[in-house]
Amino acid sequence: MSLPRLHLLSLGGTIASTDVGSSPGVGPKLGAAELVAAAPGLETVAQISTEQLAQVGSSSLTPDLAVSVARAARAAIDDGAQGIIVTQGTDTLEETAYLLSLLGDARAPIAVTGAMRNPTLPGADGPANLLAAAQVAASDQLRDTRAVVVFNDEIHDPQWVRKGHTTSTAAFTSGPHAGPIGWVHEGAVALHGRPVTPPQVDLPSGEIPPVALVAAGLGEDLRVVEALADLGYAGAVIDGVGGGHVHADAVPRLERLAAQMPVVLASRTGSGLMLRSTYGYPGSEIDLMGRGLRNAGPLSGRKARLLLGVLLANGAADEWPY
Ligand code: ASP
Repeated sequence: MSLPRLHLLSLGGTIASTDVGSSPGVGPKLGAAELVAAAPGLETVAQISTEQLAQVGSSSLTPDLAVSVARAARAAIDDGAQGIIVTQGTDTLEETAYLLSLLGDARAPIAVTGAMRNPTLPGADGPANLLAAAQVAASDQLRDTRAVVVFNDEIHDPQWVRKGHTTSTAAFTSGPHAGPIGWVHEGAVALHGRPVTPPQVDLPSGEIPPVALVAAGLGEDLRVVEALADLGYAGAVIDGVGGGHVHADAVPRLERLAAQMPVVLASRTGSGLMLRSTYGYPGSEIDLMGRGLRNAGPLSGRKARLLLGVLLANGAADEWPY
Protein backbone atom coordinates (compact mmCIF):
# COMPACT_ATOMS: atom_id res chain seq x y z
CA MET A 1 0.00 0.00 0.00
CA SER A 2 1.41 3.39 -0.89
CA LEU A 3 1.83 5.93 1.89
CA PRO A 4 -0.18 9.18 1.92
CA ARG A 5 1.50 12.25 0.47
CA LEU A 6 2.03 15.14 2.88
CA HIS A 7 3.66 18.53 2.31
CA LEU A 8 5.70 20.19 5.08
CA LEU A 9 5.98 23.98 5.17
CA SER A 10 8.71 25.12 7.53
CA LEU A 11 8.96 28.61 9.05
CA GLY A 12 11.75 28.28 11.66
CA GLY A 13 11.29 28.47 15.45
CA THR A 14 12.72 26.33 18.24
CA ILE A 15 12.00 23.09 16.38
CA ALA A 16 14.60 24.22 13.82
CA SER A 17 17.00 25.95 16.22
CA THR A 18 20.62 25.12 17.02
CA ASP A 19 23.62 27.07 18.29
CA VAL A 20 24.06 30.22 16.25
CA GLY A 21 27.86 30.19 16.85
CA SER A 22 28.65 33.87 16.65
CA SER A 23 26.52 34.88 19.67
CA PRO A 24 25.01 33.17 22.73
CA GLY A 25 21.77 31.22 22.44
CA VAL A 26 20.10 29.22 19.69
CA GLY A 27 18.33 30.38 16.56
CA PRO A 28 16.50 28.83 13.62
CA LYS A 29 18.95 27.14 11.24
CA LEU A 30 17.71 23.65 10.34
CA GLY A 31 15.89 23.35 7.03
CA ALA A 32 12.62 21.52 6.40
CA ALA A 33 14.36 18.43 5.00
CA GLU A 34 16.61 18.24 8.08
CA LEU A 35 13.53 18.29 10.35
CA VAL A 36 12.08 15.35 8.44
CA ALA A 37 15.38 13.45 8.59
CA ALA A 38 15.54 13.93 12.38
CA ALA A 39 12.13 12.39 13.12
CA PRO A 40 12.40 8.59 13.36
CA GLY A 41 9.27 6.77 12.18
CA LEU A 42 8.08 9.51 9.84
CA GLU A 43 9.05 7.40 6.85
CA THR A 44 6.46 4.79 7.90
CA VAL A 45 3.63 7.36 8.10
CA ALA A 46 3.83 9.33 4.85
CA GLN A 47 5.87 10.45 1.89
CA ILE A 48 6.77 14.01 2.78
CA SER A 49 7.76 16.80 0.42
CA THR A 50 9.21 19.96 1.96
CA GLU A 51 9.26 23.69 1.41
CA GLN A 52 10.98 26.41 3.44
CA LEU A 53 8.91 29.60 3.60
CA ALA A 54 10.76 31.39 6.42
CA GLN A 55 13.59 30.81 8.90
CA VAL A 56 12.83 33.09 11.84
CA GLY A 57 11.74 33.17 15.47
CA SER A 58 7.95 33.25 15.33
CA SER A 59 7.72 36.73 16.83
CA SER A 60 8.97 37.90 13.42
CA LEU A 61 6.29 36.10 11.40
CA THR A 62 3.44 38.20 9.97
CA PRO A 63 -0.20 37.72 8.96
CA ASP A 64 0.91 38.20 5.34
CA LEU A 65 3.32 35.28 5.75
CA ALA A 66 0.42 33.17 7.04
CA VAL A 67 -1.45 34.05 3.84
CA SER A 68 1.58 32.80 1.86
CA VAL A 69 1.44 29.57 3.88
CA ALA A 70 -2.25 29.14 3.04
CA ARG A 71 -1.48 29.78 -0.63
CA ALA A 72 1.43 27.28 -0.64
CA ALA A 73 -0.79 24.71 1.09
CA ARG A 74 -3.44 25.09 -1.65
CA ALA A 75 -0.79 24.64 -4.35
CA ALA A 76 0.46 21.47 -2.64
CA ILE A 77 -3.08 20.10 -2.34
CA ASP A 78 -3.69 20.87 -6.04
CA ASP A 79 -0.54 18.87 -6.64
CA GLY A 80 -1.88 15.83 -4.77
CA ALA A 81 -0.90 16.35 -1.12
CA GLN A 82 -3.42 14.71 1.23
CA GLY A 83 -2.39 16.77 4.22
CA ILE A 84 -0.18 19.70 5.17
CA ILE A 85 2.20 20.14 8.10
CA VAL A 86 3.40 23.58 9.20
CA THR A 87 6.36 23.84 11.60
CA GLN A 88 7.06 27.16 13.27
CA GLY A 89 8.00 28.83 16.54
CA THR A 90 5.54 28.42 19.34
CA ASP A 91 5.31 32.07 20.43
CA THR A 92 2.78 32.96 17.71
CA LEU A 93 1.74 29.45 16.67
CA GLU A 94 -1.84 29.91 17.89
CA GLU A 95 -2.18 32.97 15.66
CA THR A 96 -0.86 31.40 12.45
CA ALA A 97 -3.03 28.35 13.12
CA TYR A 98 -6.10 30.55 13.58
CA LEU A 99 -5.41 32.40 10.32
CA LEU A 100 -4.99 29.05 8.56
CA SER A 101 -8.32 27.92 9.97
CA LEU A 102 -9.89 30.99 8.34
CA LEU A 103 -8.01 30.78 5.05
CA GLY A 104 -7.35 27.04 4.72
CA ASP A 105 -8.79 24.56 2.31
CA ALA A 106 -11.14 21.89 3.65
CA ARG A 107 -9.85 19.39 1.05
CA ALA A 108 -6.88 18.58 3.32
CA PRO A 109 -6.08 19.43 6.95
CA ILE A 110 -3.19 21.66 7.99
CA ALA A 111 -1.51 20.38 11.20
CA VAL A 112 0.54 23.14 12.84
CA THR A 113 3.29 22.15 15.25
CA GLY A 114 6.63 23.20 16.75
CA ALA A 115 8.79 22.44 19.77
CA MET A 116 9.50 23.82 23.21
CA ARG A 117 12.94 22.15 23.61
CA ASN A 118 15.37 22.80 20.81
CA PRO A 119 17.31 19.95 19.16
CA THR A 120 20.47 20.61 21.24
CA LEU A 121 18.64 19.79 24.51
CA PRO A 122 17.94 16.44 26.18
CA GLY A 123 14.33 15.46 25.58
CA ALA A 124 13.90 17.68 22.52
CA ASP A 125 10.20 17.42 21.61
CA GLY A 126 10.36 18.50 17.97
CA PRO A 127 10.67 15.01 16.39
CA ALA A 128 7.75 13.61 18.43
CA ASN A 129 5.57 16.63 17.65
CA LEU A 130 6.42 16.37 13.95
CA LEU A 131 5.58 12.67 13.91
CA ALA A 132 2.23 13.32 15.64
CA ALA A 133 1.46 16.18 13.25
CA ALA A 134 2.10 13.87 10.30
CA GLN A 135 -0.20 11.23 11.80
CA VAL A 136 -2.94 13.87 12.14
CA ALA A 137 -2.39 15.40 8.69
CA ALA A 138 -2.58 11.93 7.15
CA SER A 139 -5.72 10.95 9.02
CA ASP A 140 -9.05 10.64 7.22
CA GLN A 141 -10.79 11.72 10.43
CA LEU A 142 -9.78 15.35 9.92
CA ARG A 143 -10.36 15.48 6.17
CA ASP A 144 -13.05 18.20 6.40
CA THR A 145 -11.10 20.34 8.89
CA ARG A 146 -9.06 23.30 7.68
CA ALA A 147 -6.45 23.50 10.47
CA VAL A 148 -5.57 22.09 13.87
CA VAL A 149 -2.69 22.46 16.31
CA VAL A 150 -0.86 19.25 17.22
CA PHE A 151 1.41 19.48 20.26
CA ASN A 152 2.51 17.08 22.98
CA ASP A 153 0.29 14.40 21.36
CA GLU A 154 -2.78 16.62 21.81
CA ILE A 155 -4.97 17.98 19.00
CA HIS A 156 -6.34 21.49 19.54
CA ASP A 157 -8.93 23.67 17.85
CA PRO A 158 -7.22 26.86 16.55
CA GLN A 159 -10.12 28.95 17.85
CA TRP A 160 -9.43 28.03 21.49
CA VAL A 161 -5.77 27.05 21.66
CA ARG A 162 -3.15 29.31 23.18
CA LYS A 163 0.40 29.06 24.42
CA GLY A 164 -0.08 29.05 28.16
CA HIS A 165 3.44 28.40 29.53
CA THR A 166 6.85 29.84 28.71
CA THR A 167 8.84 26.58 28.81
CA SER A 168 6.71 23.48 29.41
CA THR A 169 6.51 20.86 26.65
CA ALA A 170 2.77 20.89 27.47
CA ALA A 171 2.64 24.65 26.76
CA PHE A 172 -0.46 24.51 24.56
CA THR A 173 -3.86 24.56 26.16
CA SER A 174 -7.44 25.11 25.11
CA GLY A 175 -8.39 25.48 28.73
CA PRO A 176 -9.88 26.11 31.03
CA HIS A 177 -13.25 25.64 29.35
CA ALA A 178 -12.55 23.73 26.13
CA GLY A 179 -9.63 21.27 26.25
CA PRO A 180 -8.09 19.33 23.35
CA ILE A 181 -10.40 17.85 20.71
CA GLY A 182 -8.38 14.63 20.68
CA TRP A 183 -5.02 12.94 20.98
CA VAL A 184 -2.53 10.96 18.97
CA HIS A 185 -2.66 7.62 20.72
CA GLU A 186 -0.39 4.66 19.81
CA GLY A 187 0.15 6.28 16.45
CA ALA A 188 -3.54 6.74 15.66
CA VAL A 189 -5.81 9.76 15.88
CA ALA A 190 -8.38 9.52 18.69
CA LEU A 191 -10.90 12.34 18.34
CA HIS A 192 -13.55 13.03 20.95
CA GLY A 193 -14.73 16.37 19.61
CA ARG A 194 -14.88 18.39 16.42
CA PRO A 195 -13.30 21.80 15.95
CA VAL A 196 -15.67 24.74 15.67
CA THR A 197 -16.22 25.67 12.02
CA PRO A 198 -14.61 29.10 11.79
CA PRO A 199 -15.74 31.73 9.28
CA GLN A 200 -14.36 31.01 5.78
CA VAL A 201 -12.41 34.01 4.53
CA ASP A 202 -11.13 34.48 0.96
CA LEU A 203 -7.38 34.58 0.54
CA PRO A 204 -6.53 38.31 0.50
CA SER A 205 -4.89 39.41 -2.73
CA GLY A 206 -3.23 42.46 -1.15
CA GLU A 207 -1.46 43.15 2.13
CA ILE A 208 -3.25 42.85 5.45
CA PRO A 209 -3.55 46.35 6.96
CA PRO A 210 -2.33 46.99 10.50
CA VAL A 211 -4.84 46.39 13.29
CA ALA A 212 -3.91 47.60 16.79
CA LEU A 213 -4.45 45.46 19.89
CA VAL A 214 -4.84 47.72 22.94
CA ALA A 215 -5.28 46.45 26.49
CA ALA A 216 -7.61 47.99 29.06
CA GLY A 217 -6.73 47.80 32.77
CA LEU A 218 -7.25 49.34 36.17
CA GLY A 219 -7.52 53.12 35.70
CA GLU A 220 -6.45 52.91 32.03
CA ASP A 221 -8.13 55.75 30.15
CA LEU A 222 -6.93 54.47 26.76
CA ARG A 223 -5.58 57.87 25.63
CA VAL A 224 -3.25 55.89 23.37
CA VAL A 225 -6.12 55.14 20.96
CA GLU A 226 -6.16 58.81 19.93
CA ALA A 227 -2.90 58.21 18.06
CA LEU A 228 -4.00 55.12 16.13
CA ALA A 229 -5.41 56.72 12.97
CA ASP A 230 -2.34 58.95 12.50
CA LEU A 231 -0.09 55.93 13.00
CA GLY A 232 -1.75 54.24 10.04
CA TYR A 233 -3.88 51.66 11.80
CA ALA A 234 -6.94 50.57 9.83
CA GLY A 235 -8.73 48.88 12.73
CA ALA A 236 -8.42 48.22 16.45
CA VAL A 237 -9.22 45.59 19.02
CA ILE A 238 -9.68 46.60 22.65
CA ASP A 239 -8.86 43.85 25.15
CA GLY A 240 -11.41 44.87 27.75
CA VAL A 241 -11.52 43.81 31.39
CA GLY A 242 -14.06 41.19 32.45
CA GLY A 243 -16.81 40.51 29.91
CA GLY A 244 -15.73 43.51 27.75
CA HIS A 245 -15.43 46.70 29.82
CA VAL A 246 -13.22 49.79 30.01
CA HIS A 247 -12.79 52.76 32.37
CA ALA A 248 -15.53 55.36 31.90
CA ASP A 249 -12.92 58.00 30.87
CA ALA A 250 -12.05 55.87 27.84
CA VAL A 251 -15.60 55.87 26.48
CA PRO A 252 -15.58 59.13 24.43
CA ARG A 253 -12.22 58.14 22.96
CA LEU A 254 -13.50 54.75 21.85
CA GLU A 255 -16.63 56.32 20.39
CA ARG A 256 -14.50 58.71 18.31
CA LEU A 257 -12.23 55.82 17.27
CA ALA A 258 -15.20 53.69 16.15
CA ALA A 259 -16.26 56.57 13.89
CA GLN A 260 -12.81 56.41 12.24
CA MET A 261 -12.21 52.67 11.86
CA PRO A 262 -13.72 49.29 12.84
CA VAL A 263 -13.18 48.65 16.56
CA VAL A 264 -13.75 45.24 18.15
CA LEU A 265 -14.28 44.76 21.88
CA ALA A 266 -12.72 41.60 23.34
CA SER A 267 -12.08 40.26 26.83
CA ARG A 268 -8.71 39.85 28.51
CA THR A 269 -9.99 37.02 30.74
CA GLY A 270 -8.93 34.24 28.34
CA SER A 271 -12.09 32.19 28.63
CA GLY A 272 -15.84 32.41 28.07
CA LEU A 273 -17.89 34.43 25.58
CA MET A 274 -18.12 38.20 25.46
CA LEU A 275 -21.08 39.76 27.22
CA ARG A 276 -23.71 41.58 25.13
CA SER A 277 -26.66 42.44 27.33
CA THR A 278 -25.75 42.41 31.03
CA TYR A 279 -24.18 45.72 32.15
CA GLY A 280 -25.47 49.18 31.31
CA TYR A 281 -22.98 51.56 33.04
CA PRO A 282 -20.52 53.85 31.16
CA GLY A 283 -17.75 51.68 29.73
CA SER A 284 -19.85 48.50 29.86
CA GLU A 285 -20.40 46.16 26.92
CA ILE A 286 -23.93 47.52 26.23
CA ASP A 287 -22.63 51.10 26.35
CA LEU A 288 -19.67 50.41 24.06
CA MET A 289 -21.61 48.37 21.50
CA GLY A 290 -24.18 51.19 21.42
CA ARG A 291 -21.30 53.51 20.45
CA GLY A 292 -20.33 51.39 17.45
CA LEU A 293 -17.87 48.84 18.85
CA ARG A 294 -18.26 45.27 17.60
CA ASN A 295 -18.30 42.20 19.81
CA ALA A 296 -15.46 39.63 19.62
CA GLY A 297 -17.86 36.80 20.52
CA PRO A 298 -15.73 33.74 21.38
CA LEU A 299 -12.42 35.18 20.14
CA SER A 300 -9.47 36.35 22.22
CA GLY A 301 -8.27 39.84 21.39
CA ARG A 302 -5.32 38.46 19.45
CA LYS A 303 -7.49 36.24 17.26
CA ALA A 304 -10.10 38.98 16.77
CA ARG A 305 -7.25 41.20 15.55
CA LEU A 306 -6.33 38.65 12.87
CA LEU A 307 -9.92 38.14 11.70
CA LEU A 308 -10.45 41.90 11.45
CA GLY A 309 -7.19 42.22 9.49
CA VAL A 310 -8.10 39.67 6.82
CA LEU A 311 -11.63 41.06 6.51
CA LEU A 312 -10.19 44.58 6.07
CA ALA A 313 -7.77 43.25 3.43
CA ASN A 314 -10.75 41.85 1.53
CA GLY A 315 -12.76 45.08 1.87
CA ALA A 316 -15.23 43.05 3.93
CA ALA A 317 -14.99 44.53 7.44
CA ASP A 318 -18.80 44.87 7.42
CA GLU A 319 -18.98 41.07 7.38
CA TRP A 320 -17.72 40.85 11.00
CA PRO A 321 -19.46 37.64 12.09
CA TYR A 322 -19.97 38.09 15.86
N1 ASP B 1 10.93 31.79 20.56
C1 ASP B 1 10.56 30.62 19.80
C2 ASP B 1 9.72 31.02 18.62
O1 ASP B 1 8.55 31.27 18.74
C3 ASP B 1 9.86 29.68 20.68
C4 ASP B 1 9.55 28.36 20.07
O2 ASP B 1 9.65 28.11 18.90
O3 ASP B 1 9.17 27.49 20.87
O4 ASP B 1 10.22 31.07 17.55
